[in-house]
Amino acid sequence: MATPRTVVVGAGIVGLCSAYELSKRGMDVVVLDRATTFDSASCGNAGLFSIGHYPLTKPGASWRGLRWMFDSSSPLWIRPSLSPALLRWLWKFHRHCNAAHMERCVRTLCAMGWRTVQALEAMLDAESIDCMYRRNGWMDLILDARNLESARSEGRVIAEHGYRTDVISGAELRKRDGAYRDEIAGAIHYLDTAILDPSRLVRGLADALGRRGVTIRMGTEVSALQRDHRGVCVGARLTGGEVVQGDTTLVAAGIWSDDLARCAGVSVPMQPARGYHVQLDGVAQMPANGGVMHELCVAYNPMGAQLRLAGTLEIAPVGRPWMRTRMNALVTGARKYLHGIDGGRVTQEWAGYRPCTADGMPVIGFARETPGLYVATGHAMMGLMLGPVTGQIVACDICGEVQSIDSEILASVRPGR
Ligand SMILES: Cc1cc2nc3c(=O)[nH]c(=O)nc-3n(C[C@H](O)[C@H](O)[C@H](O)COP(=O)(O)OP(=O)(O)OC[C@H]3O[C@@H](n4cnc5c(N)ncnc54)[C@H](O)[C@@H]3O)c2cc1C
Repeated sequence: MATPRTVVVGAGIVGLCSAYELSKRGMDVVVLDRATTFDSASCGNAGLFSIGHYPLTKPGASWRGLRWMFDSSSPLWIRPSLSPALLRWLWKFHRHCNAAHMERCVRTLCAMGWRTVQALEAMLDAESIDCMYRRNGWMDLILDARNLESARSEGRVIAEHGYRTDVISGAELRKRDGAYRDEIAGAIHYLDTAILDPSRLVRGLADALGRRGVTIRMGTEVSALQRDHRGVCVGARLTGGEVVQGDTTLVAAGIWSDDLARCAGVSVPMQPARGYHVQLDGVAQMPANGGVMHELCVAYNPMGAQLRLAGTLEIAPVGRPWMRTRMNALVTGARKYLHGIDGGRVTQEWAGYRPCTADGMPVIGFARETPGLYVATGHAMMGLMLGPVTGQIVACDICGEVQSIDSEILASVRPGR
């Protein structure tokens, strides 16, 4: 009997981790990606492996987004529009920004957090991938003392799931690391989190897949999903007409997943949330840890001699030109938290899209409407961190193994999504 084949659309972190876990289980896997180089959100992100963290749908987030709508330099900016898809998404997002939903999300994400860190570390070890992985926690840097209590309470919630946090005063922080400025009131040290270089992870994983016999076809655009006369998805049709056949087709195409799934009768409503990164060389005082500048919602990650500043959330249609003001805001804002930013030289600028569902949780599961089709997307600001566990869930489902994560909250059809 031939080995069952999975066709994976998308060579981002979700597609590659899924391909890895499937290949470990002896499946035949082919990965298709239209890009010619690895440059997706999976490479350009901040590189925080923030296990146990909150999704976008925090209570109050929708009101904050509305307030900031008229300030295009704010951390979360929604480009004003009367698009029915955006309005529907915003309404559903607003409905999910409540404490009960958050509690259920945090429970699931905390369980996934422990699994994802184990899966990542096992993969890095087994495949000797060097992506500058450091698990000594990261800092939530708080400038305004009034924000300390709410940051502390987030730490207390995840502590209930076994995640360790440490509250540090500004003075103590500076004693530990001279890179931090006097203006910082305090920090929460999330001790179980990690940082890494996401581009190196993606490239290292692609090389490992090659060694394991997985075919990765870059520069290969999927124009539609192929269904047979019974409506079963039997593979991916490429621009040019070739059909790559598979027993299962996994759509892991980030924000573009909805367009692809729709042509096979499945809807995965999401909004693109663009983020930016700037990379600086020659920063005189490089911080030892990575972390988040709380008030800015911007992450910093020391990657060798380079400091990556990444963040801002801009909900706007795919393909609009970059906003220079938002890119510049990364560096201007970081000056308030870190020494040595002024002497840094910009070596890289990048922008890319987070795929965001209205309820803040990813979609990972078989599409009930279309046999043979599996969807794994919607990881928003947590895709790097959730990539390895997503790969495990995908592989368990496709290979018919039992897995312990709450799959109802991740299912492709769920109430209010
Ligand atoms: C600025 C920024 C900072 C972030 N920081 C973090 C962080 O610190 N930690 C964290 O966990 N997450 C972070 N994220 C989120 C994370 O990057 C994403 O959730 C994750 O990369 C999504 O991965 P993906 O594989 O689903 O999609 P992508 O990385 O977008 O990959 C999708 C792939 O599908 C391909 N594709 C699309 N359509 C087609 C088609 N028709 N045919 C063939 N190929 C196709 C694309 O070319 C692409 O390579 C950040 C995101 C941004 C933008």
